Amino acid sequence: MIVMKFGGSSLESAAAISRVARIVRGRLARHPVIVVSAMGKSTNLLFAMAEDAASGKRTEALARLRSLEEFHRRESFALVSEASRHELEVILSEHFRDLGEIVEGLCAVGELTPRSLDAVASYGERLSSRIVALAFQNHGIPAVHLDSRNSIVTNSRFGQAAPIVSETYARVSADIADIGEDHVVVMGGYIAANAEGVTTTLGRGGSDFTASLVGAAIGAEAIEIWTDVDGVLTCDPKLVPDAHPVKTISFGEAAELAYFGAKVLHPSTVLPAREKNIPVWILNSRRPEAPGTKIVSESVPCTNVLKSVACKRGITVVHIRSTRMLGAHGFLRRIFEIFDRYETAVDMVATSEVSVSLTIDNDARLSEICAELEPFTEVSVEENQAILCAVGDNIRETPGVAARVLGALKCINVRMISQGASLLNLGIVVTNADLSGAAAALHREFFTERDPAVFG
Ligand code: ADP
Ligand code: ASP
Ligand code: MG
Repeated sequence: MIVMKFGGSSLESAAAISRVARIVRGRLARHPVIVVSAMGKSTNLLFAMAEDAASGKRTEALARLRSLEEFHRRESFALVSEASRHELEVILSEHFRDLGEIVEGLCAVGELTPRSLDAVASYGERLSSRIVALAFQNHGIPAVHLDSRNSIVTNSRFGQAAPIVSETYARVSADIADIGEDHVVVMGGYIAANAEGVTTTLGRGGSDFTASLVGAAIGAEAIEIWTDVDGVLTCDPKLVPDAHPVKTISFGEAAELAYFGAKVLHPSTVLPAREKNIPVWILNSRRPEAPGTKIVSESVPCTNVLKSVACKRGITVVHIRSTRMLGAHGFLRRIFEIFDRYETAVDMVATSEVSVSLTIDNDARLSEICAELEPFTEVSVEENQAILCAVGDNIRETPGVAARVLGALKCINVRMISQGASLLNLGIVVTNADLSGAAAALHREFFTERDPAVFG
């Protein structure tokens, strides 16, 4: 069996979903399980609608609800024949009636909890999985819908729930086995439920993670992530338009890229696949003939020192300086305990004896963190920064990589540098405004010549 996951851009219209149906039909012999994201940018719209509703903008919230409904109606009715119209109408009217009630509830209470936001956000995948299953049936694929909320079990950290892995694997494999190999299971990514059956989500971009969990649960022979680019590229093509596809990359490299902002893969995706040694493919649903990227367990021989450069915009740098005596121990522990207490993940760290600089990408709790740091430190905060992260297994053994990186960026003010831990990445912080120039300069330095065995 294989798992095929289709992202929002692969499902943005009736035409896109028909293209997906053709791709799936071509792989029926491999017994695919299908994981789908919300259609197009529906999740962004659902978030905006929930925020409007809870902040007193009822008219705006209801307008967004109407436009979501119109979009789903228009695209889905174009996908099914006369015989399926009634079933489709029931699906749409039930989902939009329930969602409308939640929106009215949010307007009435004027508050948006992580739990109610997950309830709203889940409608993207709840709708898309039902619509895709019906569309597949209309394209001659024996599709059966499976509600992921019955199979993927998580903790109750709404908005960023963590799967309870053993329970999830047991349920997913049993539920898919019950449906049987003659059918194509279609399930929503991103959505799940806690042990009490309350809807949770795995965090933005989490459908990739669902695909990997499902793949590991059923012991799939491959996990395919179908998206809108030709695979993992040497840089985000939105930043560097002449980025090149990478044919093969290791799990370690892919994990670093995802963690440092390459949106093409959700950072948690690698773990389940890597544990079960299942290759992950990144493929383009608009160009299914393109070879794509294969992510494998072993390191990939390559004459280039880097495989790719990841970029993460909109991060905040926090500089913390001890006001106590030099060499006092326990300083780092005290600092990180505070970040931990406010559930704020730290991405990059650089330290000297009395000061620490670190980066965070979620500054929602930063003022509370600063208030706790202030009694024993001097804190300064720089917003609107970006991380550029050069990634490649070869960094480990190649002398002079840092010199080449900094040489390429000699006209740019580098705010922070970090190389360590995994030995396969080198991270630098620049301002948001410098990001695209810095990315282009690094790309030129490292990818003007390319190993033809690794790069397309
Ligand atoms: P999907 O809707 O299929 O989940 P995403 O938008 O989440 O798609 O991810 C695909 C996008 O990731 C691409 O359009 C591209 O802009 C972005 N991206 C960022 N870094 C990279 C990279 N190194 N290689 C490929 N794509 C990248
Ligand atoms: N639809 C969700 C999101 O936009 C999950 C995903 O697409 O992976 O974040
Ligand atoms: Mg995605």
